[in-house]
Amino acid sequence: MSKKVVVIGGGPGGYEAAIELAKLGAEVSLIEKAHLGGTCLNCGCIPTKTLLSGAETYATLKNADRFGIAVSDCKVDYARLYSRKEDVVKRLRNGVQFLMRKHGIQVVEGNASFSDKSHIAVDSGNKRSIIAFDAAIIATGSMPSMPPIPGIDGRNVMNSTDALELKELPERMAVIGGGVIGLELSAFFSKIGTKVTILEACPQILPEMDEDIVQEYLKLSGMSNSVKTSCKVQAIEDSATGKVVRYTDTTGMALSVECDKVLVATGRRAYTQGLNLEGIGVLTDRGRIQTNENYQTSVENVFAIGDVNGKAQLAHAATSQGRYAAQVIMGNKPTVKTSVVPWCVFTEPEMAGVGLSEKQAKKAGVAYEIAQFSFAASGKAMSMGKAEGFIKILYGPEYHEILGAKIVGPHATDLIGEMVLALSLETTLEELADTMHPHPTLCEALADAARQ
Ligand code: FAD
Repeated sequence: MSKKVVVIGGGPGGYEAAIELAKLGAEVSLIEKAHLGGTCLNCGCIPTKTLLSGAETYATLKNADRFGIAVSDCKVDYARLYSRKEDVVKRLRNGVQFLMRKHGIQVVEGNASFSDKSHIAVDSGNKRSIIAFDAAIIATGSMPSMPPIPGIDGRNVMNSTDALELKELPERMAVIGGGVIGLELSAFFSKIGTKVTILEACPQILPEMDEDIVQEYLKLSGMSNSVKTSCKVQAIEDSATGKVVRYTDTTGMALSVECDKVLVATGRRAYTQGLNLEGIGVLTDRGRIQTNENYQTSVENVFAIGDVNGKAQLAHAATSQGRYAAQVIMGNKPTVKTSVVPWCVFTEPEMAGVGLSEKQAKKAGVAYEIAQFSFAASGKAMSMGKAEGFIKILYGPEYHEILGAKIVGPHATDLIGEMVLALSLETTLEELADTMHPHPTLCEALADAARQ
């Protein structure tokens, strides 16, 4: 008899886990209370990148003169940008639905809650059904976390989901939080005409990232003047012209920024509401579900993957963890690698990284050397009019094994893929340098960096 596995949550972690389980012969039910695709597809990765593509197209057209192309009367039609985003989301959602059907996965709409260690109750409207399981995967994701700032519940204060649903373009926006989500949404809105001010509590936006990467980004993006660091937001209030965000700097000086909308992008917290975890003995730590290296919780047949376990709040991490857990559940030796986790920031210029950063290497006392290459010397980057930014590869001084890579520049988010493979395969700098790369491409700059 096939194993009965229930997956709670239809985000990139949940639906990919369900597909892997089905491929390995499990009888799979996937429970989703909102939309298939989860945060990623409906209010995360996909809508932001779709909007950013629109904003980038606008920026390219405005700069078309540099390429000898005359463009006149180039305007943003925000309503159409918005509806294109809706269309992309809808098409991809249908795609996930198709995949569920194709793999014979039973999709159950409703809110899931554990009845005991082998049954889940699903509530939909006033109907309740009970599903029995041999194993369950919790993939319920995360939700925006709102810090206790006075006035945060007020009018015109938004989280990232609200910002992606804005029907009209605000003239001025204050963004609290200079992490990835805050920066990407700031990049979008500022590119299409909103005056954005980013307020970050740490001395640097993207606090975990190497300073030289962040400095290069600020220089090239022209966002330096829009970013205020080391500021502590004290209150959000209504003002005569809209909203005012009050904050103090490191000296305690009281400052403020006037705006029409406030976007709060201060991180996300694990979403476990209503699951009845305590009832079955699943342990959490600061809200995140605790798991071992197999993504198994304190209850043997219950697994937790993706944002809800707080290991890495990234869609590709959720997907890999989901597939890994599925292989464990089905008694297979897991082949999926979950330890090499790339990250990307889809701003202009883009930033991406994988493995050790210089900051982390210094902190951990890991010996390293750096190979660096500037896109200013890349023929492809120059032909694109984007000969800016650089690649930085950290490697071990003795064996030259690649420890990490950081990229700021054109298509950094695509280029990092090669470095993910290099790290996964424990490649050395020489192996990267001696691998033939196509010409003229941006990826040959990776080999050029290694040859330095
Ligand atoms: P989710 O995608 O959050 O899915 C969880 C699902 O579970 C939801 O559909 C929810 O409705 C459902 N659910 C919850 N509780 C229950 C219940 N009790 N019963 C039934 N269903 C339930 N990551 C990237 O890698 N790249 C990016 O570019 C990127 N951009 C982002 C931009 C924004 C604005 C945001 C907010 C996030 C972004 N992320 C990005 C993060 C990414 O979206 C998440 O890491 C990813 O979606 C996590 O996947 P998941 O499967 O763990 O959970």
